[in-house]
Amino acid sequence: MTVRADILKNIKRVVIKIGSSVISNRDKGRSPLECGLSKDWVRHYARKIKAIRDKGYEVVLVSSGAIMAGRERLEFGRTDLTIPEKQACAAIGQSFLMHTYEKAFEKKGLMVAQILLSHDDLGNRRRYLNAKHTIEALLEKGVIPIINENDSVTVEEIKIGDNDSLSATVSCLVDAQLLIILSDVDGLYDRDPSLKNKSSAEKAQLISHVSRVNEDIEKIAGKSNNRLTVGGMLTKVRAAKKTMSFGIPALVVNGLDEKVVENIFAGKDVGTLFWSGKGKIRDRKHWIAHTLKSTGTLTIDEGARKALVERGKSLLPAGLVKVKGNFEFGNALTLIDESGKEIGRGLVNYNSRDLERIKGMKTSAVRKLMEESFYEEVIHRDDLVIF
Ligand code: GLU
Repeated sequence: MTVRADILKNIKRVVIKIGSSVISNRDKGRSPLECGLSKDWVRHYARKIKAIRDKGYEVVLVSSGAIMAGRERLEFGRTDLTIPEKQACAAIGQSFLMHTYEKAFEKKGLMVAQILLSHDDLGNRRRYLNAKHTIEALLEKGVIPIINENDSVTVEEIKIGDNDSLSATVSCLVDAQLLIILSDVDGLYDRDPSLKNKSSAEKAQLISHVSRVNEDIEKIAGKSNNRLTVGGMLTKVRAAKKTMSFGIPALVVNGLDEKVVENIFAGKDVGTLFWSGKGKIRDRKHWIAHTLKSTGTLTIDEGARKALVERGKSLLPAGLVKVKGNFEFGNALTLIDESGKEIGRGLVNYNSRDLERIKGMKTSAVRKLMEESFYEEVIHRDDLVIF
């Protein structure tokens, strides 16, 4: 079996990043930011995403294009916009972008939801988990979350900066099994394919598989001088490096190729795949297990122990016997069984006061008691490491 077929076999959830240049009204010689949003390309991707959904995959979109769409509407012709001007463009363009997606997906019978994130949201554990829970709830309802950076309220220092990096973070956040970055280039070349010097440009080869992002790869990516992509190849390679360290493969492909999505899902050798294989403990789980300080201990009963260890389930309030420590939502806790043996660690969805009230209770009773602060899981499987 090829590497790509093997990856496809294991996919349940995929994050797709759409770059501004992919959904712009392209016009030769002009940057996509000057060309405005193309409804045709948005519709095209609504169709493609519907087809992926019909195959049974969950899809989370990360879409750029707000600033581009806003520029068009505000008729900002010049390229040197000030930061407040860009933010104004993002504010206007974002709603236009979403409106365009909404209309396109509605035709396919799909609902969309907008989520705007900033670095502050993702750096703060509580907000990180909140975002995660929201996205999970949307996916459960069959909705397509469409994520962008909250450009109009973030200034440079607290910005994620580019949507390649945002899409990598989102892939880890939602535990996707594949990140697809749709760009306007075919992937990573071993040298700059747009070089003036034809003889060397002709020899530029597309790299089909990168199994490790090292300095050499970053150097090659840094040199690719594509003025049409917002982040260029370097931000894509860095995004892929991040997902790889979390055990998630990333694929950088040319989104202007109308058949690219079919080709990916047919296991064809398109674009550049960044993948080092499975087998590593995911960095985030590593972070939960080894980096975070545990702020409390939960004792769980035998039924819950079995559900967690043998069946890979989340921890529910019903299985909780004892709560020790003073902790808040999002803190790391140690799980022990009734004999005091450590089972694992995880990030908790309740503070210690609430958990004390709901321990041992059935989910339906917890739902009634907690109302708005209700979470089904005390610790979600994705936030849990079993030793
Ligand atoms: N968030 C920006 C926008 O929607 C794009 C950033 C990027 O593509 O890296 O216009």
